[in-house]
Amino acid sequence: MKVLYVEDEKYMARAVAQVLKRNNYTADLAYDGESGLDLALSGVYDVVILDIMLPTRDGVSILREMRKQNVTTPVILLTAKGETEDKVKGLDSGADDYLAKPFQTDELMARLRALGRRKELIITNDTLAFGDVELNCNTLDLFGNGQTFHLTLKESRLLELLILNRDHAISANTIIERIWGWDSEAEDSHVQVQIAFLRKKLSLLSRRVKIKTVRGVGYMLIESGEDADAV
Ligand code: CA
Repeated sequence: MKVLYVEDEKYMARAVAQVLKRNNYTADLAYDGESGLDLALSGVYDVVILDIMLPTRDGVSILREMRKQNVTTPVILLTAKGETEDKVKGLDSGADDYLAKPFQTDELMARLRALGRRKELIITNDTLAFGDVELNCNTLDLFGNGQTFHLTLKESRLLELLILNRDHAISANTIIERIWGWDSEAEDSHVQVQIAFLRKKLSLLSRRVKIKTVRGVGYMLIESGEDADAV
């Protein structure tokens, strides 16, 4: 996978590039907004990581220009604490994910894997499949067993998160951060409610796909036959 990282803190940029290379990514670096935009517009990258505060052109503006020019490369925006407004602007401008600085490189790698997987798994029209159900992430329609249910935005994003992380359980905290945002007041009980809604809809569309609660860890999507007794 080819990654572009636009970051003006050169020391950090190089350190992250090292980690990317160790994880078998090809990494290009840009240290200011204008050169970052030029590279991003080339469209040759699988993922672009954009810092927001940059000399010559900020990350959100790079992202907007990319989307304006129909460059659909997935973008991870790096936000600093207190830049909530930037984050909202960023997501509105077409960012696929965001990560608050300072971040652990493990976390960045996990986000990159999820985006890479998203790219592989999306068949057409932003459809993600798991077992015998299919989710359209654009229309929020969930298909299964010849039926369709319209999901709420939160349910759809929750299911998308579960499908993309199909090989491991994700914690309620991660779900809150990814769906409600790191600065939200949402609690575990909010997650439980969304999981309950989603379970109900899934149970009407599929006898096989279930959300398993992994005690002390979180939630995971499974297909019956794999681990159905533990649900
Ligand atoms: Ca910066």
